[in-house]
Amino acid sequence: MEKEKADIRKLALKEIVSFCEENSLKSFRGKQVYEWLWKRSAKTFDEMNNLPKNARQIFSTQFVINPLQISNIQKSKDGTIKTAFKLFDGGLVEGVMIPSEKRATACISSQVGCNLACTFCATGKLKLLRNLGPGEIYDQLVVIKQQAKEHNNTPLSNIVLMGMGEPLLNYKNVLQAINNMISEKGLGLSPRRITLSTSGVIKGIMKLADENVKFNLAVSLHTADNDKRNRIMPVNKTNPLDKLAKAIQYFHEKTGKRITFEYLLLKDFNDSLADAQKLAEYCKIVPCKVNLIEFNATGDGLFKKSPKLKTEAFYNFLESKNMVVNIRSSRGEDIDAACGQLANRAGSEKVKK
Ligand code: SF4
Repeated sequence: MEKEKADIRKLALKEIVSFCEENSLKSFRGKQVYEWLWKRSAKTFDEMNNLPKNARQIFSTQFVINPLQISNIQKSKDGTIKTAFKLFDGGLVEGVMIPSEKRATACISSQVGCNLACTFCATGKLKLLRNLGPGEIYDQLVVIKQQAKEHNNTPLSNIVLMGMGEPLLNYKNVLQAINNMISEKGLGLSPRRITLSTSGVIKGIMKLADENVKFNLAVSLHTADNDKRNRIMPVNKTNPLDKLAKAIQYFHEKTGKRITFEYLLLKDFNDSLADAQKLAEYCKIVPCKVNLIEFNATGDGLFKKSPKLKTEAFYNFLESKNMVVNIRSSRGEDIDAACGQLANRAGSEKVKK
């Protein structure tokens, strides 16, 4: 049986350089290949026209690049663009470009499906098929960056890993993708513009702290009540709020970074003033800001959006405690591109531009 070719974008630069040396190629060829892969987003080895033909052949007999293909593009009436990406093995993931007047945000995925089964999330209803490779995470950003330029005439100012999947359960590939987004050998973006959002995987948060990462961390809290959190986020059963607090404090101590807490307001579940009080108490653990997120229906009717008056009362309560708090209104709801709605419902449709 023919040996399966390895995904070259899972290799670090020094590994590609070693491969060159082992195959009697000059080591600078490794740097050239790396630049083609990340800075120039080459989809084939044949495109690498500053490499001799035999070098391109050696690489293509051993490796594949596995670029993402665009499967479907949907545009919301508010300008949000959702793109369904087809993977080399037929899997689908989604990425979203969220425009505003002066900037654009990219929301990208890290896994095909997710097995954390948060009850408010459409992705959580899909079983985890596999982790995305570093190149597959990175490619989403390259496409969305271009969309921001073409459709909104703005550079991409923020990148959030908040799409499909739990990034800290695909730790190595996510970190490699982010490192290439930051690196001058890749997109050269400032790490301050990048936010990794986790449901609260303690082990991963500790690891990020030990690596002293320079990008931001957001934690999807959604309630500061342990029992309630167990009910909507099964991950809480093994990563309970008290232990999560210690990991978050450790991250802050090591990196000096302010944490963002994401809080989805669910009608009559976590939107009372008593819930706000609990949240305010929990937030005392570190310097932080809170994003209150409007809930978007996922079709199962389990939860409803918190009424405007309650949302405002919740917001005012936190503000009265001198907390930094924002309300994130829903974007791209008409195309299922809003928070918690990514589930590839349109993934198999034809490309619409
Ligand atoms: S909210 Fe995030 S962690 Fe929870 S099921 Fe959805 S994708 Fe997974």
